[in-house]
Amino acid sequence: MQFLLAMRRRGIHDLRVLRALELVPRDRFVEREHAEHAYADQALPIDCGQTISQPYVVAAMTEALQIEPSHKVLEIGTGSGYQAAILAHLAAQVVTVERYRTLAEEAERRLRDLDLDNVTVVVADGTLGAPEHAPFDRIVVTAAAAEVPPALFGQLAPGGILVAPVGPASGVQSLYRYRKREEGAPPERDELLSVRFVPLVPGKAAAL
Ligand code: SAH
Repeated sequence: MQFLLAMRRRGIHDLRVLRALELVPRDRFVEREHAEHAYADQALPIDCGQTISQPYVVAAMTEALQIEPSHKVLEIGTGSGYQAAILAHLAAQVVTVERYRTLAEEAERRLRDLDLDNVTVVVADGTLGAPEHAPFDRIVVTAAAAEVPPALFGQLAPGGILVAPVGPASGVQSLYRYRKREEGAPPERDELLSVRFVPLVPGKAAAL
């Protein structure tokens, strides 16, 4: 498939990640009017003024997480549910948090239709994480902030990995991977690539 070849060419080599990309039909996660571009390597608009991330960025974030089959993974920013669906094929359990109820409900329906029943969609302010489901082996933040919300490090298991875009809300951010050491020690951090995410907005969305 052309799409997988494009991902491999861009440097995604983890076979489990490529397999997950193969198993998730991205066309189900985009609006009907954008379906013809579902397998192009580009972000696309979704409801509530948000975006489904570019597939290469989803793949690179997923690869950087080094997920093992026993893991419990937290995603902040459900959006379309596409990243959550990829995670669902790699981890034992996925919790994904979205501040717009509309997006959360649409994502939940798509995930159910694909029989991905190891995903829990939570409508809440993701800057606070999902304390009722913590701790997590892996955390991925799919919206940009000037710094990673401290609550998320608190909910990461020792040895756990967190991947997040850090930088200005409108503009280019750096994708960082953090590895938590023992409780209290500052995490190790490495910079992965430049990205452009929609902003992480504190609080639950009021109307939608
Ligand atoms: N991972 C998504 C794309 C995410 S776009 C996908 O695969 O389609 C970023 C999402 O983060 C948006 O849906 C936005 O509403 C959500 N978001 C922004 N701030 C948030 C917050 N504080 N808590 C939860 N979700 C948030």
